[in-house]
Amino acid sequence: MFICYLGIGSNLGQRRENIELAVKKINSLKSTKVIKLSGIIETKPQGGPPQPKFLNAALKIKTGLAPLTLLKKLKNIEQELGRIKTVRNGPRAIDLDILLYADKIIKRKELIVPHPRMFERDFVIRPLSEVI
Ligand code: AMP
Repeated sequence: MFICYLGIGSNLGQRRENIELAVKKINSLKSTKVIKLSGIIETKPQGGPPQPKFLNAALKIKTGLAPLTLLKKLKNIEQELGRIKTVRNGPRAIDLDILLYADKIIKRKELIVPHPRMFERDFVIRPLSEVI
């Protein structure tokens, strides 16, 4: 089992419910358990087109899923929650990011860990610092 930290954001629809449902779905993934959920904070969108404010949170999980498998499962959850791919950094019902995966450094085209932009994003670091 590996300890991982995930970032969650939502700025479309029932934002709080989207986050709560995503957390439930993550907790029911194979060999995965949610250990800790941060508080949910409201943040201004950074980058991308003008869009509604986000709710953001971070999660500590333990998982037996390999990094790319976990990424695939998180993308499935994003789809189930009705994320429509529009413009880069545009509004989304749910956005799930792998921030840290144990002590691994991963540099693949589909997955970069630690998440490359996490350190400059207050809306990632604030919730993450509560669960780490
Ligand atoms: P976005 O639409 O901005 O959420 O970007 C999602 C894409 O970023 C996915 O298709 C992933 O393949 C890629 N990606 C790269 N690194 C990560 C990461 N650490 N966590 C989640 N997605 C990642």
